[in-house]
Amino acid sequence: MREDFPIFERKIGGKKLIYFDSASTTQKPKEVIDAVASFYKTANSNVHRGLYFLSREATEIFEATREKIRKFISAEEAREIVFVRGTTEAINLVATTFGKKFVKRGDEILISEMEHHSNIVPWQMVCQDRGAKLKIIPVTDSRELNLQEAEKLITKKTKLVAITHVSNVLGTINPVKEITKLAHKKRVPVLVDGAQAVGHIKVDVRDLDCDFYAFSGHKMYGSTGIGVLFGKKEWLEKLPPYQGGGEMIKQVTFEKTTYNDLPYKFEAGTPDIAGVVGLGAAIDYVTKVGADPIQRHEKELLKYGQEALSSIGGVKIFGRTRNKTGIISFILERVHPHDVGTFLDGEGIAIRTGHHCCQPLMERLGVVGTCRISFGIYNTKQEIDKLKTALLKARDFFHGTN
Ligand code: PLP
Repeated sequence: MREDFPIFERKIGGKKLIYFDSASTTQKPKEVIDAVASFYKTANSNVHRGLYFLSREATEIFEATREKIRKFISAEEAREIVFVRGTTEAINLVATTFGKKFVKRGDEILISEMEHHSNIVPWQMVCQDRGAKLKIIPVTDSRELNLQEAEKLITKKTKLVAITHVSNVLGTINPVKEITKLAHKKRVPVLVDGAQAVGHIKVDVRDLDCDFYAFSGHKMYGSTGIGVLFGKKEWLEKLPPYQGGGEMIKQVTFEKTTYNDLPYKFEAGTPDIAGVVGLGAAIDYVTKVGADPIQRHEKELLKYGQEALSSIGGVKIFGRTRNKTGIISFILERVHPHDVGTFLDGEGIAIRTGHHCCQPLMERLGVVGTCRISFGIYNTKQEIDKLKTALLKARDFFHGTN
């Protein structure tokens, strides 16, 4: 599979690139790059607007991809798939429109302690705007969501629960189906942040029964700038439009505008058509490789990686739950994560360091930041061996034994 990714032909500082930052963005297979290039070379035109052949063709590809995504995440209808820029925009779309329509003074929005800023700040803004309160599901010492607390925190005041499917710091896979059940018992809708789940584990929105599901194309081997909001049609129909402009209207006069049907009501302006084409190619690619082999490969790397890192004295790993994706957060004692990251960069190894857009979780873990390695389907055990050697070198360098 590694050969499918042209970027690995590159050398960084004369060394073969080792890329351990797929949670940030995955590398792109040739299929995706070619699909985007081919769209611009042979089919470029705007969608839903032109009567001419090229525009009809672009529209067909665009809508066929919507259907492909529906199938990929097992949504009921294609009109429940809204194209957005990414997870962040999908959450902002729901927070803004849901907040405007349903949240009032004294209401509560429930999120968790392990959320990415993208699933904190939009809700905080809604709460500030509407006079509502943000409530937090705590993380246990084993770095899982505290379900008993979650149950208690869902009350008559709760308007919506927004949780991440997979933590981008810990890799923990959260029991979102169970939480959705708890919330639905009290008639509370649930939004799931699927940024770290799609492309790594099988996602079936009908089985999860969540009301909204958000994800980004670029974290599942597609291009940047494109993402998806799934929403149950009953909910999407109730929400007001997010942005105004072309495409989202049926009729405009200076006195009044009537809005378009789903999903176009939420797709104002020209979308990232090439991005949609790339996302379609990414889905084809992930489907070809297969959800099970992908998960198996990541699990194997996770086990191997955790063992390798644990064997280095002075390394502390955060989050060792059994139900995890291929993400490992760690620190090298007495060394700032940025120093570790810079050292590894010198060895041609790309890892992510810092707070990972999860400052409240960092506070819970009692650190300023962590080093994070995250796997894609192109990573190998040999790369983990090289990481271990480089980390030992880093430890000797920073701890002064060299
Ligand atoms: N949610 C989680 C869990 C993430 O890991 C990320 C990105 O790292 C996001 C949301 C935001 O995704 P994007 O920047 O693609 O909108």
